[in-house]
Amino acid sequence: MPDIIRLLPDSVANQIAAGEVVQRPASAVKELMENAVDAGATSVKLIVKDAGRTLIQIVDDGSGMSDTDARISFERHATSKIKSADDLFNLHTMGFRGEALASIAAIAQVELKTKREEDEIGTCISIEGSVFKSQEACAIPTGTSFSIKNLFFNVPARRNFLKSDAVEFRHIMEEFERVAFAHPHIAFSLTNNGTEVFNLAKGNLRQRIIALYGNPYNQRLVPVDESTNIVQISGFIGKPEFAKRTRGEQFFFLNNRFIKNGYLHHAVQGAFEQMLPHDSFATYFLFLEVDPHTIDVNIHPTKTEVKFEDERAVYAILRSSIKRALGQYNISPSIDFNQEMSMEIPYNQKGVPVAPGIHVNPNYNPFSNNNPGISDGNNFSQKEKSVPSNWQEMFTSHMQKEDSLSENSIMEIKEGEQLRHSDLENANENKTSGKIWQLHERYILTPIKSGILVIDQQRAHERILFEKFLRSIEQHNAPVQQILFPETMEFSPSDSAIVTSLLDDFNALGFDLRSFGNNTFVVHGIPAGMEESNCVELLDGVLETYKQNEQELHMQPRENIARSMAKQAAVKPGRSLSILEMHALADELFACESPSHAPDGKPAFINFPIEELDKRFKR
Ligand code: ADP
Ligand code: MG
Repeated sequence: MPDIIRLLPDSVANQIAAGEVVQRPASAVKELMENAVDAGATSVKLIVKDAGRTLIQIVDDGSGMSDTDARISFERHATSKIKSADDLFNLHTMGFRGEALASIAAIAQVELKTKREEDEIGTCISIEGSVFKSQEACAIPTGTSFSIKNLFFNVPARRNFLKSDAVEFRHIMEEFERVAFAHPHIAFSLTNNGTEVFNLAKGNLRQRIIALYGNPYNQRLVPVDESTNIVQISGFIGKPEFAKRTRGEQFFFLNNRFIKNGYLHHAVQGAFEQMLPHDSFATYFLFLEVDPHTIDVNIHPTKTEVKFEDERAVYAILRSSIKRALGQYNISPSIDFNQEMSMEIPYNQKGVPVAPGIHVNPNYNPFSNNNPGISDGNNFSQKEKSVPSNWQEMFTSHMQKEDSLSENSIMEIKEGEQLRHSDLENANENKTSGKIWQLHERYILTPIKSGILVIDQQRAHERILFEKFLRSIEQHNAPVQQILFPETMEFSPSDSAIVTSLLDDFNALGFDLRSFGNNTFVVHGIPAGMEESNCVELLDGVLETYKQNEQELHMQPRENIARSMAKQAAVKPGRSLSILEMHALADELFACESPSHAPDGKPAFINFPIEELDKRFKR
């Protein structure tokens, strides 16, 4: 038998590596921007066309490369940044794997123009799918320009996997933002399809945040500064009252490189403790400096995840430095020369802000595991915990709020159990006259011929709204209720790109939402019947859910927006419903196309048959 092991040709190996390094246009943007930063640029221009599909160009005024270096830079493991494995642990530059250029050149048509200060004339190289095409002398200013054309031209599977231009461009903006925040002393610009999106002058971090997120941030930032021998922390946190319900304004930079770290995020959130409104996220731009020997950045190919040697200590220091910053802000109004001299009321005198529209459940007991709002909806499949103590009360005292009946104890019905057709008819018969009760401000109980129907109020409402919203989006006919005082909402650039791409759908749902430029939107109208005071909160929540669905479930935009809206607008556990409301909810549920499940597939109601009761009573 002949030998069967072969070495892969470089072009194939590079394509495979590219799969790791370049998942989408934004990954190429990140690598090239970081290279420009490493090359000591003071100004970096990013130009994209069609969200990077047809062109990504990065022009810097950094060190440039010699003819030979320019040629070698496309080889795999070609790097000027490390010489030995030891250097890996002493890195202060961005890239270090020497893989980026080789990978990008394997899957695109690349043109590199570069010139060093000391050279008279520059060099221009073109490469297509790892195949070297040409190298010529060319006249260019000192620095480097990379043009990446037709990304994935030779990997159709990857190209087809790309999302819409709006989504891909958003990813590009995200990477752009991260690098721009990390290097406020470098000027950056971003141009998309001929339109300048950002032009950021050199400055300090505060100025950079304002340039990217808008003037109002000047008043929202609280400086953080802490120096210990384990870690140095600097940057800004947002004042608690400006925390948003949508994620995306959380930035950690470790040794000047953007990282993601859930553990450290927890430290920051924790430091805010009760200061944050329910369900919202602190804004932060935090720079951590540690000795490079004490971290391992090499655990993830795209290097946004990092391992610390002493994660617990970093956690504790971070948490206490945020607390200290918040404390200082409490007692002394932030002094800021750019700020108008307005009296700032210390935060603790304003009281803890409570998000509007959140209903507090008086039955909430932190020591009980039956709390509404934290259930995963699987209670019915759990084992019986106690003997029902006041079963009959359920039928007599629905007006009474202190209903101590444990949901777990009612029954053991398997989740997802379907109603028989006749039951559904019975449920419909129930329409206006039947008895109906609310249990624990969470379930609706109503008798049907074969037993009792238990409806999850939140899930039922989500189903109803979801179908309604989908119809509205398709038919574009939802009634709008104009609001008296239009609300202004600001988003981060990447969130603003999502909102822009969804503007038509939002308006089809009954919003009158208009772009005001500069990542700002004005709400002039809301869907008829919706509470005006909740609209900003609701839209923030919708955006957050939308992003999660998109990332985790790869959902289509229309279904996603309808689902996110339904989730946010549905009644929550803890809300007591009138008899009329309960009837309406049950009626509307059974008028739905798929009444049995909430949009996320979890049961919206279950049927508890009388035989089951008989069995329990050992009849
Ligand atoms: P790495 O950044 O990990 O070293 P890359 O493949 O990204 O690997 O780049 C290879 C090398 O090409 C770099 O080490 C650097 O010497 C050179 N290089 C890349 N981009 C630039 C640039 N914009 N200006 C100057 N040199 C660059
Ligand atoms: Mg690099």
